[in-house]
Amino acid sequence: MVNYEEIDLKIDREHLWHPYTSTINPLPVYPVEKADGVYIYLKTGEKLIDGMSSWWAAIHGYNNSRLNAAMTRQMQHMSHVMFGGLTHAPAVGLAKRLLKVLPRGLDKIFYSDSGSVAVEVAMKMAIQYQSSRGKTTKTAFMTTRSGYHGDTWNAMSVCDPTTGMHSIFNGRLSVQYFIPAFPMDYDAPIDAAVVANMEREISEKADQIAAFILEPVVQGAGGMRFYNPEYLNILYSLCKKYDILLIFDEIATGFGRTGRYWATNHTNVVPDIMCIGKAITGGYMSFAATITTTQVADTVCAGEAGCFMHGPTFMGNPMACALACESMDILSDMGLEKISTMEKIMREELHNAEKLTSVADVRVLGAIGVIEMKEPVDMAVLQRKFVSTGIWVRPFGRLVYIMPQYIITEEELRTLCRKMIEVIS
Ligand SMILES: *Cc1c(COP(=O)(O)O)cnc(C)c1O
Repeated sequence: MVNYEEIDLKIDREHLWHPYTSTINPLPVYPVEKADGVYIYLKTGEKLIDGMSSWWAAIHGYNNSRLNAAMTRQMQHMSHVMFGGLTHAPAVGLAKRLLKVLPRGLDKIFYSDSGSVAVEVAMKMAIQYQSSRGKTTKTAFMTTRSGYHGDTWNAMSVCDPTTGMHSIFNGRLSVQYFIPAFPMDYDAPIDAAVVANMEREISEKADQIAAFILEPVVQGAGGMRFYNPEYLNILYSLCKKYDILLIFDEIATGFGRTGRYWATNHTNVVPDIMCIGKAITGGYMSFAATITTTQVADTVCAGEAGCFMHGPTFMGNPMACALACESMDILSDMGLEKISTMEKIMREELHNAEKLTSVADVRVLGAIGVIEMKEPVDMAVLQRKFVSTGIWVRPFGRLVYIMPQYIITEEELRTLCRKMIEVIS
């Protein structure tokens, strides 16, 4: 049994690698006693309002009684069976729920273990699709700068070259094509020069490109940027015109985060392939899916291999699927009006940061609030201050941002925003 009485921080410091953290000079980590609802309780006594939803995932709060019950129920049926040659109620139940809310035409679902894997799966699908059609030169990908698609090899090759540190991996990552990021903001008018450049790049490289991959409407870890969805409508037409598949990475934006069920719902188009993850299990377990059309799936399977060449050990994990079913049910009981309310409150509150001379920009979309500073922040210092005022916010670079849980109350959300501004000023 785990000894919950003690967390040995010396062992952690000397032996555990944390995300994007140095072993020479590791940033401090805060030991967590428990998490409940919208609060994280530290061993040292602090009670923090969670502003991060554990990286977009814990949308319904920690220790959620419905998710707990779903997990317990599923455990008693089975925690896992292989998905090769077997199937089960949670996998089928999740498919049924997804088909109800997915953009029309996306109806072939491939389950996997994490967002990065879902992206790898999407990229492999695109390559197999082009190969099946005899388009053997179409093996590269195009994307925009400032994107983030995960940390595995090919996912990394389509991350922003600077923040993804492509120079270190030079010559070892697949070389992909980048166009400039779409201009900010959601409401910005369409820039004709940006569109012309995009068409030129796509038309020039068309015979080498299997697919265009990007995060629709909101770029997350690559810069917390929002852009006009109309760019996606234009991109869709160009992809059709030049025979390129379009992949939307909805891993961060899915399940209501941008105010619509999917960010794709801000556009008039349906991508050929879509990746979902993060909030899919309500933040309880790692899980993801890659979804495509019958046309793409059948073309893949009509090719040389006769099937799609992928099959993770924990594919369709019943615990994860059962949690995802329950999480989607909770979301449909909740309705997306709650997200508009959160958007309204965050606009009102974060607006106050615009007055600060250290602040470059403030933006809010759906349940995402971003304060962009003029200078990069000292994460360790700011983190300590956030913790001492009772909130959990983890900035990076020049960005101090929140994507709170959907169960947060108005009062808690206002407190979170106010304390955030108090600390940065
Ligand atoms: C987090 C993220 C991923 C990677 O997901 P993991 O579960 O961390 O592998 C991919 N794409 C986007 C847009 C993400 O936000």
